[in-house]
Amino acid sequence: MQIVLASKILEANERNADDNQARLDEAGVYGVNLLGSPGSGKTTLLEKLIPALKDRMRVAVIEGDLATARDAERIEVLGVPSVQINTEGACHLDATMVAAAMDALDLDTLDMVFMENVGNLVCTAGFLLGERLRVVVLSITEGDDKVEKYPPMFRHADAVLLNKADLLPYTDFDVKKAEAHIKRLAPEADVLQVAARTGDGVPACADWLVGRREAWMAQKT
Ligand code: MG
Ligand code: ZN
Repeated sequence: MQIVLASKILEANERNADDNQARLDEAGVYGVNLLGSPGSGKTTLLEKLIPALKDRMRVAVIEGDLATARDAERIEVLGVPSVQINTEGACHLDATMVAAAMDALDLDTLDMVFMENVGNLVCTAGFLLGERLRVVVLSITEGDDKVEKYPPMFRHADAVLLNKADLLPYTDFDVKKAEAHIKRLAPEADVLQVAARTGDGVPACADWLVGRREAWMAQKT
């Protein structure tokens, strides 16, 4: 009998993620892993962010879902390239799936690729995809305790977007408490409030993304 340790699988994934990162770096494409629970508003946020980014940089989206092409279809109507990965039951994206999706994109014509992960606050955190930026979407309706309860998700976040901020008056979500927990797990992470539905905070998110890519480009050369 052979036993394969989970750590070996993660090691192999990390090698593949490094390869993805090298491919993206060479093409000057900034990879953004977008993580969060189902229903946190990841796709809706992209629907609002892309029109705000599109005139400033060339964007594409890789969508990860168990089944359907619904999210990629929602992105396609915005006029940017989108690729749907169907994980057929797998609860997270891995670097091999993303490599296959990257094959379907003309990387040399792009500046930024979003990798919208499968909606999941647990194991998506453990699989690097080749991204340069990790953005966690936490919606107000999920509760401010989720940061403490799902630490791996937040520990390596470069930013946490508190989405559905328009619902703050209707919930007990304590922004200060959530921010304090995020600060403890990821001291460098930026925390931004956004309401994808109304569009509030979207321009600030777009500016933040453009700024992060510019800083990366400046450091790269
Ligand atoms: Mg989605
Ligand atoms: Zn999983």
